[in-house]
Amino acid sequence: MLPCRSEVTRSIPDNKIFTGACLCGRCRWQATGEPEFAGYCLYSHCRRMSGPGRTPFMGFEQGRVRIRGDMRQYEDTSDAGQGIVRYFCTICGTRLYSVPGSVPELRIFYAGVAPGC
Ligand SMILES: [Zn+2]
Repeated sequence: MLPCRSEVTRSIPDNKIFTGACLCGRCRWQATGEPEFAGYCLYSHCRRMSGPGRTPFMGFEQGRVRIRGDMRQYEDTSDAGQGIVRYFCTICGTRLYSVPGSVPELRIFYAGVAPGC
């Protein structure tokens, strides 16, 4: 079950590498291949965190992801009532990704921190 409403995107090659970084550059992530899902979250918590009405995101299985940096976590409950842990840079506060409690092997990146997406 997806934590947010989603829209399926175009097919992406298996060797495609996505990268993202926080504002200060101390936290970084990399994911390889086609996301399990991608789209725009319309739920109220994403709106409250970002401001705009839609938050772009991409979800990957954790085996295709590398994440580094000093992050804090916030344990939230989504609008759908699902537990979700959100990760932020400890220095600049940029939100980087989340892990849904219902599917803990997924890493859902906020695509706004991925240049070129
Ligand atoms: Zn940072």
